Amino acid sequence: MIEKLAIVGVGLIGGSFAMALRKAGMVREIVGVGRSAGNLQEALRCGAIDRIASGAASAVQDAELVMLAVPVGQMAAVMQQIAPHLAAHTVVTDAGSTKGDVVALARQYLPQHLALFVPGHPIAGAEKSGVGAADAGLFHGRQAVLTPLPETVSEATDRVRDAWLACGARVAEMSPEEHDRIFAAVSHLPHLLAFALVDEIASRSNGKELFGYAAGGFRDFTRIAGSSPEMWRDICLANRDALLQELDTYQSQLERLHALLEQGDGAALERVFDRASQARNAWASQNDLTTETQRHRENSKT
Ligand code: NAD
Repeated sequence: MIEKLAIVGVGLIGGSFAMALRKAGMVREIVGVGRSAGNLQEALRCGAIDRIASGAASAVQDAELVMLAVPVGQMAAVMQQIAPHLAAHTVVTDAGSTKGDVVALARQYLPQHLALFVPGHPIAGAEKSGVGAADAGLFHGRQAVLTPLPETVSEATDRVRDAWLACGARVAEMSPEEHDRIFAAVSHLPHLLAFALVDEIASRSNGKELFGYAAGGFRDFTRIAGSSPEMWRDICLANRDALLQELDTYQSQLERLHALLEQGDGAALERVFDRASQARNAWASQNDLTTETQRHRENSKT
């Protein structure tokens, strides 16, 4: 049982974490803090939090667990605000989508608290922001990655692992560097590509006409281009080196496809598509995407 949980940034992820822990009966009091009064009122109304704190400093006072769920570009400011107010027993974790930068910031701003700092990243989300999109079941059956520091004590990691398990997530551990390499390839690059394609088509003089004919393929490829621009700006900048490498690799693949098209080499194109189709179908059948698909259907109705 967590006596007091403080959520700094009660949005999609912070709100869902709070709701899931409450549903699991794991927490007695949840205090929230954020940038938008309207969003915090909504968090109170929907029961994600019990109380709105006047600031991050007062929110974390005497908390057993603090979840930092702000965009990664806000982590430095938030860590500076909470550092002098953390009790000796308070475990701090985060949900940021990049880990190398968050770990470096923790070393800079929370040097006295590294033993109780457990960096994390739930591999679940949506293109919607704010507590209005939060869902107690968001993490069910999904992974949560933890990247504990050499300084982190095992009791702190266990506490955060238990919280994610109570949310229904599976927990994996890796280094921040490995995390950032992996997610540059399978998350950050796809988001960049989706934003790029939609922006390019929207900026054409006949963009409206093109959107008028866009259907399922366009919707599936570009769903994530509806995500928070602030959050994705921060992620791309924070993981810039790994993302640039992935972009170079992808550009080489595009050049290969460009050459095959120019040469009219249908057999080679089909071989590429065949490998990709088999890999995609195998991945989809290993990862039960039913829940995700249902959630997207529900989201698109609202
Ligand atoms: P969100 O926009 O829904 O929520 C972020 C909240 O933080 C907002 O309510 C905002 O008001 C608040 N906030 C921003 N700056 C603040 C500050 N300085 N002090 C206090 N509150 C502040 O975003 P989200 O999708 O919940 O993302 C939160 C974190 O989780 C990000 O670091 C993101 O990288 C990570 N994450 C997101 C997803 C996803 O799919 N959305 C998935 C995994 C991890």
